[in-house]
Parts: sequence; C-alpha cells; structure tokens
Amino acid sequence: MSNPNTFASLGLAEPLLRAVTDTGYEHPTPIQAQAIPQVMQGGDLLAAAQTGTGKTAGFTLPILHRLLQDPAQGRKPGQPRVLILTPTRELTAQVEESVRTYGKHTSIRSMVMFGGVNINPQISALRKPLDILVATPGRLLDHAQQKTVDLSAVEILVLDEADRMLDMGFIRDIRRILALLPKQRQNLLFSATFSDEIRELSKGVLSNPIEISVARRNTASELVKQTMVLTEQAHKRDLLSHIIRESGWHQVLVFTRTKHGANRLAEKLVKDGLAAAAIHGNKSQAARTRALAGFKDGKVAVLVATDIAARGIDIDQLPHVVNFELPNVPEDYVHRIGRTGRAGSEGSAMSLVDRSEIKLLSAIEKLIKRPIERTTIEGWSPDMIKAEPAHARDDDDDRPRRSSQPRRHGGAAGHGNGARSGARPASRPRSESSSPRAGGNGSGRTGQPAAKQTRSHNGSGSGSGNHSSAAPRRAALLGK
Ligand code: AMP
Repeated sequence: MSNPNTFASLGLAEPLLRAVTDTGYEHPTPIQAQAIPQVMQGGDLLAAAQTGTGKTAGFTLPILHRLLQDPAQGRKPGQPRVLILTPTRELTAQVEESVRTYGKHTSIRSMVMFGGVNINPQISALRKPLDILVATPGRLLDHAQQKTVDLSAVEILVLDEADRMLDMGFIRDIRRILALLPKQRQNLLFSATFSDEIRELSKGVLSNPIEISVARRNTASELVKQTMVLTEQAHKRDLLSHIIRESGWHQVLVFTRTKHGANRLAEKLVKDGLAAAAIHGNKSQAARTRALAGFKDGKVAVLVATDIAARGIDIDQLPHVVNFELPNVPEDYVHRIGRTGRAGSEGSAMSLVDRSEIKLLSAIEKLIKRPIERTTIEGWSPDMIKAEPAHARDDDDDRPRRSSQPRRHGGAAGHGNGARSGARPASRPRSESSSPRAGGNGSGRTGQPAAKQTRSHNGSGSGSGNHSSAAPRRAALLGK
C-alpha cells in the first residue's frame, strides 16, 4: 500500500477535505493513513489504537465519505445508517463532536445518546431523520426496547474503545445490540489492547478485517516530560496552587483520587484566585459539560478530575497534567499522562508524591521502564502555609476500591492563602537530577506513533503483541 502523506491523496470527498483544512491538520496520522482507505472501500477493520493517535478522525472521515457517496433515499426517522458505540458519555459526546466537525460542510445528521440524563429529549430527537448515532450501550438498549430507535438499517458499526466496554461489563449489552443489526454490514473495532476477550469479540463481529496496530503511546513517549515532587499530603494543595500560579500554567488537568478531594482542591484553587473547576461522577452532566467546555475554550485554567470523570476527555495538545495523588493502579498513570504531549507537542506530567505513595511510584516506574525525574520547587517552603484546621482525608473514590490504600486522617491541609503573601521568587519546577531517559520499550516515537498493518482472518492473527502491558481493568468501573 502506498503511504499517502496528505488527506487529499486519500481520495476523501471535497466537503470533508475542506473540514480537515479548517481544523489545521496537515498530514494524516499513521492510523488515519491506513484506516481511511480501508474503511472507504467498505472493508472491516480491527485497530489497536488509543486516544491521541487520531483514531476518531480515522473512522469518522471515511464513514462520512461513504455516506456522501451513497445517499440513502426514503429513510424513516430514528433509523441510523451508522452506529458508533462507546463506553462513556464523555467519549460519546466527543466522538459526535468530531462527526459534526468533519461533517460540517455536509448535511449528514448525527445524534448523541447516553444514560444518566432524561430520555425524553432523545426520544424527540429520534423523531427526526438521522444518519449517525453515537451511543453508549445501555441507553441504546433502553431505546431499542421502547422502539424509539430502529437499528435494522445500520450499514456501519463502530465499536470504539472496545476493551473499555468489555471492562465495564458491556459485553452482554453489546451482544444484544448486535442481534438487532442487519447481518450484512461493515464493522470497525478499536481497542487499546488485543486481549483474548477482544479477539473473541472480533471473531464474532468482523469479517476478514485488516488489522492495524499503532504503537502504544506513552510507554516510551518522549513527548511527555515526567517529573515528581516529594511532599507531604498536607502540603499538596498549597504547593500545587503555588506551582500553577508561579509557572503561569493556563491549561492544566489535575487528577485526584477522590471526588471529594477534587472538590476541595478546586475550591482551594478558586480561593487562591485561579479559574478552577472540578468534574466527577457526582456532578450533573450539565455541570461536567460546562466545566469541560470552559476548560477547552480557556475560561477554566485548571480542571480537577477523578480518573473516571476524565475518561475520554479529549483536548488538543494539553500542556500540563498533574497527579495530585498517584493512582492506585499503575496503568492509570499511563492513561493520565496520555492526556498531554499528543499530536506533536511536548507536554508535562507532574506528580505530587507523599511518603505513603512511594510504593505506587516504584510500580509506575517499573511499568514505564524509566525513573521519573525528581524535582524541587524553587521558592516554595511549607512554612509559607498558614496553619489551618485539620480535615479528614477523603475516601469517596469514584470507583470501587481496588487495593487497600492506607487511610490517613487528620492531615492538616494548609488551606489558607499564606502562600500569597510576601515576595515570591519565580518558582518554575527545577530539576534536581537529570535522570537519564533510560529504558523505554524501544518503540521510538517520533512525532507520530509508527503503525504496522497486517491482514488477519477474523481477527485471529497474533498482530500487536506489544499491547499486552495494560493489565485488564476490573469490571464495574462504570458504577452503573
Ligand atoms: P483521537 O486519537 O481521535 O482522540 O485524536 C487525538 C487528537 O489528535 C484530537 O484532538 C484530534 O483533534 C487530533 N488530530 C487528529 N488527527 C490529526 C492530524 N492528522 N493531525 C493533527 N492532529 C490530529
């Protein structure tokens, strides 16, 4: 296969090329270069690719192209031609936004559908003509049962982040949905990993797919500068506030382990004069959407999120990610820092680590096969914090506990604004030791991840063995 280096050479319809030009993309990413021609030709696809590789445009653009080439006549409302299933409401919304972005010069209509919100507006929307439906499995089945959606005319099915859908326990829902689709259709399956379960699912769904494997990002990502600061839990809030203000960061995603912790941190940052907001599972969908939109357009400088809430957040070239606490599961660290340094720009990922987290740190360093650089913050000292009443430590994780982290109580969380007083020297994070960029997994990412492509029969080929490092997540992450 040729290796097309421009979107035009891929043969996409003119209104789509115009939309791509509007976004400013210059070249297709490796997954786009390979997936787009395959999907345009109507073939099935099994792709190992994570968020950040450009996979969404990789399937959205050729799907739009196919719909434009073959306009359907006389279709009933509520009968989508394309069904895109994703695991979370955030991802659903973002994929549909991509559909609208790339389809903006066409009259193709799309709709987003997810649970946790009133079903009636969705029912009303389904009374209008519809081409592309982007949905989470549970709510889609609700509609199918109520016969408010008709899946009998689906021509193309996309399973996006299929591994996460399986981890979240959606396999039965997916099978029930598959039973409602016409047998004759095109199928695309995207997954970060090719586990046995994914292989099995793909065998049942795909027919003679081509298999594309994009090197997993971040395991050796040279684009993310990873640092850590050793500190006390009780000092973290003030320290972070100090770092953000002094470094002038204008767009930073901060991960906390708990919902309550996310709220308290956001409140503290707001009190210190920063435009901060928290998103987590306890917030209404409207509040989450608002916070995310504010973060995207620059009104919110600091978004504080739990892992679950942050899933699927897709923001272009996010410059900074902070781990306010290290995640309990090392793979989540890789997911978190995957929010930065994408699409050719360098990003920074900083972790605030206290003594109780050293074990987690070692597990992460083992997983990413390199030490994380220790830094100190110039101009910062805990003495700058005014004493404040102790707060109990938060313990309301978004997800079920997966390991028995010790609970600590009564850490005096310096909440005051003492850090603001007095002359403050500039305090950009400064490197203590320049630890060598040792190890890595040799995938040598240069700007874009390398992709390899093989043809497999019913997805049974061994394909991309380099994705096995992501341990299977536990079920029930959805809290549904
Ligand atoms: P995805 O992997 O689909 O989540 O996309 C990751 C990010 O890359 C998105 O923010 C896209 O806007 C961006 N992107 C997608 N395709 C390209 C491209 N060809 N060139 C530059 N950025 C891109």
